[in-house]
Amino acid sequence: MMNAKKNKKSQKKPKYKILFVSSELHPFAKTGGLGDVSNSLPKALKALYQDIRILIPAYPFAVKKAESIKTIATIDLPTKGFPGHLGLPAIEGKRNRVSILETLLPGSQVKVMMIESELYNRSGTPYFNSNNKEWDDNDFRFALLNYVAVEIAMGRTEVNWKPDIVHGNDWQAGLIGALLEDEHLNKKNLRPATVFTIHNMAHMGVYSQERFNALELPKHLWNHHELEFHDDFSFIKGGLVFSDRVNTVSPSYAKEIQHEEFGYGLSGLLSYRSERLSGILNGIDMKEWNPAKDPMIKQNYSIKTLIDKQTNKTAVQKHFNLPKKKNTLLLGIVARLVYQKGIDLVLENMEEILELPVQIVVLGSGDLELESRLRQWSNKYPDKIQIQLGYDESLSHLIEAGIDAFIMPSRFEPCGLNQLYSLRYGTIPIVRETGGLADTVVHASKEHLNNNTATGVVFHESKGSTIIDAITLTSLLYQNKDIWKQLMISGMKQEYSWKESAKKYLKLYAQAIKDRNKYTQHTPVIL
Ligand code: ADP
Repeated sequence: MMNAKKNKKSQKKPKYKILFVSSELHPFAKTGGLGDVSNSLPKALKALYQDIRILIPAYPFAVKKAESIKTIATIDLPTKGFPGHLGLPAIEGKRNRVSILETLLPGSQVKVMMIESELYNRSGTPYFNSNNKEWDDNDFRFALLNYVAVEIAMGRTEVNWKPDIVHGNDWQAGLIGALLEDEHLNKKNLRPATVFTIHNMAHMGVYSQERFNALELPKHLWNHHELEFHDDFSFIKGGLVFSDRVNTVSPSYAKEIQHEEFGYGLSGLLSYRSERLSGILNGIDMKEWNPAKDPMIKQNYSIKTLIDKQTNKTAVQKHFNLPKKKNTLLLGIVARLVYQKGIDLVLENMEEILELPVQIVVLGSGDLELESRLRQWSNKYPDKIQIQLGYDESLSHLIEAGIDAFIMPSRFEPCGLNQLYSLRYGTIPIVRETGGLADTVVHASKEHLNNNTATGVVFHESKGSTIIDAITLTSLLYQNKDIWKQLMISGMKQEYSWKESAKKYLKLYAQAIKDRNKYTQHTPVIL
């Protein structure tokens, strides 16, 4: 009976073959939200009966975490597509060979393909070496991801599977749209439809003309309507110009990037393509981020057992060596410590913030100057602020569970995940009104408190005094236990599962397929 019902349901939905291309994939390789999305969205699409496969580089730290990994194909890249002087083994003197490994995404039936190449066989992070410096051949490393995606997309590999849609993410997958359109226009091959998701416009993959030539990209793409970008070229521009559909990870950010301030020189192009541009909010993995079952926190809790959250607060204070004060507002930050996140604005006003009855914990890594300034404050006021530098997935869960409020003063935030985790964990998000933060947190104004819709504290301007005001307001709200409890409960009741967003992606794929069919020649962009 159940099976018959399931079959009926699956027959109603369109079933696509989707190649999802990303430079990050949790738990194999993650530096930020992209890793989380690459994990959760494909799982949610699989649950909607889609045939989705993920393609990532086989970083050694990713391969180490993969179970039952096997080689399923070798791909000889066309000479023209990828030059032989990049340290890749030359086959027959002309061609370059990579292997495709296959494993399953943990806890799912989603197939993950990893590209094995010397270019990825290094320690560090996907983008940086152990000294936190970008690899100087990242253009080659990620161009390889694009070239391999195109070979698979065109059904020219032993993978024996040709997708209907190629879904590229961020600049590292930006050339796919351009290369596939080249297949279509110049080689008259029927290409799959293309969707490109912007997770962050600030990273655009900009490299010189010399590198463009070395990469042997199709020469005709070098013009300012296509890949050229102020005498250099940009990977992300390839995704924006050529993809059948472009989206970003929140409706507000989709609007913001069409303005100069957030468009990084491509706002004109984005508004030109606005009919193909949309915003779909990220969801969260409701299983992994569930305070009632999370194995990484000290004490599980739910709306019905909110009091148990307190045990996690004590655990956070203990971990960070802070005085165990039950009734002091415990604030936290888990983030990449970079300009985007507005950490400098908190730092500039730290003296005043610490005059308030608060404690602060910070987990993060990134900019060395920000790290050292945080350390100075923690040396000066060890009873009030403590930091842990580095990446620690399990501690990030404990912090979400144990702190009272999460500070996200981002200058821009395409979607943001930590405010969503905070809502789910009964932790009040304090956010700047931008991008996905504006779309997901409702300010604790009198009106919103009265009608029970408030879920956090939202401030407008990106400056220190507004952050102090927001934290002062949070501290006042915290003193009223009823209001605080109401805020916690309203947040915990929010629904940010991936299911609804995944359905929106299905619609986007349908539109991309429709657009691909009517897309014979792309119109030059007038900037
Ligand atoms: P972004 O992608 O810009 O970094 P998001 O809020 O979308 O920001 O996602 C950040 C993700 O990375 C969250 O899951 C967050 O918990 C995680 N994260 C960031 N820094 C750390 C860290 N130092 N340790 C553990 N998790 C981290």
